[in-house]
Amino acid sequence: MQIQVLGCSGGIGQDLRTTSLLFDDRVLIDMGTGVGDLSLGAMEAIDTVFLTHSHLDHIVALPLMLDSVGPRRNKPLQVYALKETIETLQAHIFNGSVWPDFTAIPTAETPFLRFEPIVPGQSIAVDNKNFQAIVVNHTVPAVGYLVGSDQGSFAFTGDTAQNKEEFWDVINDCHDLKHLVIETSFVDADAEVALVSRHLNPATFVEEMAKYRNSARVWLTHMMPGFEEEITSQIRQHNSALDFSILKRGDRINI
Ligand SMILES: [Zn+2]
Ligand SMILES: [Zn+2]
Repeated sequence: MQIQVLGCSGGIGQDLRTTSLLFDDRVLIDMGTGVGDLSLGAMEAIDTVFLTHSHLDHIVALPLMLDSVGPRRNKPLQVYALKETIETLQAHIFNGSVWPDFTAIPTAETPFLRFEPIVPGQSIAVDNKNFQAIVVNHTVPAVGYLVGSDQGSFAFTGDTAQNKEEFWDVINDCHDLKHLVIETSFVDADAEVALVSRHLNPATFVEEMAKYRNSARVWLTHMMPGFEEEITSQIRQHNSALDFSILKRGDRINI
């Protein structure tokens, strides 16, 4: 399994793209601005998408990509998401005002887009991989994903604040976990903002890591533009023994 990081920033800016991870050139988790760097052919080859939640930085490329490659494809793009996420996208994006309703275009029988609701804990098999939704703590209903393959597993929190044991049990009990990608959006000075927007900051990230008992490599994602170095150094000040890496656009993680 190869995971290509199309975008992993908490915002936009030169060389920065918002969240999107591409699995074996065929499946996406989230559709942030990073999707726009793919060629038309590469976008056309994507058949399946798993969304973590409805926030714009994670879905913005979905309506745009459908417009670009929908007519070139011969089957709908299959998008899995929580029921609440799908309802939000249908009400506020694919509503005929902001964007066309691609679940009924060009025809209801063969649309460009097909939504499929998932529930936390559910697993969906795609090709030779298994995508399991894990509920996380965010301002809107949200999930992370545990992606399993014959070679090992990969976990992604999506946007999240601190999580309860039920989340960490899934991560800690995954015996073939190779990588965990976890967000840390804000610096400690913005801890109040992190609290109300349900994101992590260095202090709460370090608290989360105290619940982490797996040995898989830990990657940081979704840092606010311009604060990457400060977030990293604040984590090291809290706990210099913590071992973590910084996820970067263009990284390819092979499992
Ligand atoms: Zn969010
Ligand atoms: Zn986000």
